[in-house]
Order: sequence, then structure tokens, then C-alpha cells
Amino acid sequence: MSRLSYRLLILIFSGLLAACATGPAPVETGTTNTSKSFSTVVVDAGHGGKDNGAYRKFGGAEKLATLDVAKRLSRRLRESDLKIVMTRSTDVFIPLEQRVAIENAQKNSIFVSIHFNDSRRRGIHGFETYYHSANSFDLAHRIQSKLMTIPHSANRGVHSANFRVLRLAKYPAVLVECGFLSNRLEGGEARDSEYREALADRIAEAIVEQRYGPSVYHASKGAVAQPPGEGPGLAPSSLKHD
Ligand SMILES: [Zn+2]
Repeated sequence: MSRLSYRLLILIFSGLLAACATGPAPVETGTTNTSKSFSTVVVDAGHGGKDNGAYRKFGGAEKLATLDVAKRLSRRLRESDLKIVMTRSTDVFIPLEQRVAIENAQKNSIFVSIHFNDSRRRGIHGFETYYHSANSFDLAHRIQSKLMTIPHSANRGVHSANFRVLRLAKYPAVLVECGFLSNRLEGGEARDSEYREALADRIAEAIVEQRYGPSVYHASKGAVAQPPGEGPGLAPSSLKHD
């Protein structure tokens, strides 16, 4: 080997080493990470109108349960100084593409989709939370953990999924399955307004904690009994200057 080709080889080799040192290209998550800075929450009530979602005698139509929980969740979050955009606030059918358009139109946002689950096996019960991008994992995990504080809840875990509203999201996005309408106990609970309030309360707590940190969220009246004189919780006024 000539001296020149040897030096050339060294050059190529060190070039390769330098390329390796920068590590693999970052994984394309497809989202802007607003999971700690968001000012808007897009609340998505699953199904609606001609699309009932699941329909079981214990729990009734999924579309009605999702809308009620989504409204309660929106109310809780507004109390914590977050801007709320609902993909629907009445019993109407919204195609998935339109839901994606609504979620992506909100800058500096996160997206939370509310659903109830269904199974042929009536014994199956518990909560599941889904995400797609790595930027959404924290939020999904936090929501799942807070739901687990509901008495008798069962943990069916946090999973990644290719649902369109998650896959096409520009910002962190999660989908929460708030229990199985096909299960006698959870289906019955899904009809109960106090239980829906508890679901909304835990999800709101997780979202507020994700944004502002622990101990900021105060459960509202109706969700948890509060000492007299204390109104619905608000984010501390210092946070308004963020
Ligand atoms: Zn659904």
C-alpha cells in the first residue's frame, strides 16, 4: 500500500468514526414536544351522531358516555386556566379527518381522546391509555396512573397504537379507554354521573400535573368532598404569569 493510499484510508476511517460518534439519527416522532408547555387542550369525545361506538345494555351508547366525560373534563381543565377546544360538544358525527384537523389547528396544545371499551368477554375490565409518539408517553402514563386511584380500578396498561387521531397528531396526543361497557360493573358505573365525574377529575388532575407539576390541581366539588368555603380549584395566580 502506498503512503498516499494509507493516509487516504486513515482519513476515510476517521471520517466514519466521527459519523458514528454522532450516534443514530433521532427517532422521528412526528410531534412537537409541547407536553410540558401546552396552553390548550383539545378534548375529543369519541364517536357521536350515527356512530354510537360500543353499545351495551349495562353502559348504554359509548358516544353519550364519552361526550359527558369530555364535557366534565373540559370544565375541570378550564378551572385550571387552560384553553379548551372540544372536537364536539353535542351528539354529532365528526369524521376522523376532521378531528385530526381540529387537533392540529391548535398550536401549543395536547390532544386527549375519551373512549369506553368493549369486549365479547364480559369479564374483561379496566383502564387503558394509548399513545403513538414518544412525546406523548409521559402524559399517557400519568393519566393511566391517576385513573388507577379510582377504587376497584384495574390496570390494563399504557400501550402504543396506530389510531389515526394519534398517528397524525402534530402535538402530544393520547386516547383513554375509560373502562368496558361490556362489563357489568364498569358498564353500570359508566352510566353513573358521579363516576363520570371521578373519571374526568382524575384525567384533569393528570393533565394539570403534566403541565404545572404536582400539588397544583385541586379536585372540584362533586368529585371529592371539600371543606366548606373552598371553591373549585384554580391554578395558583403565580402560574398565570407563565
Ligand atoms: Zn370508542
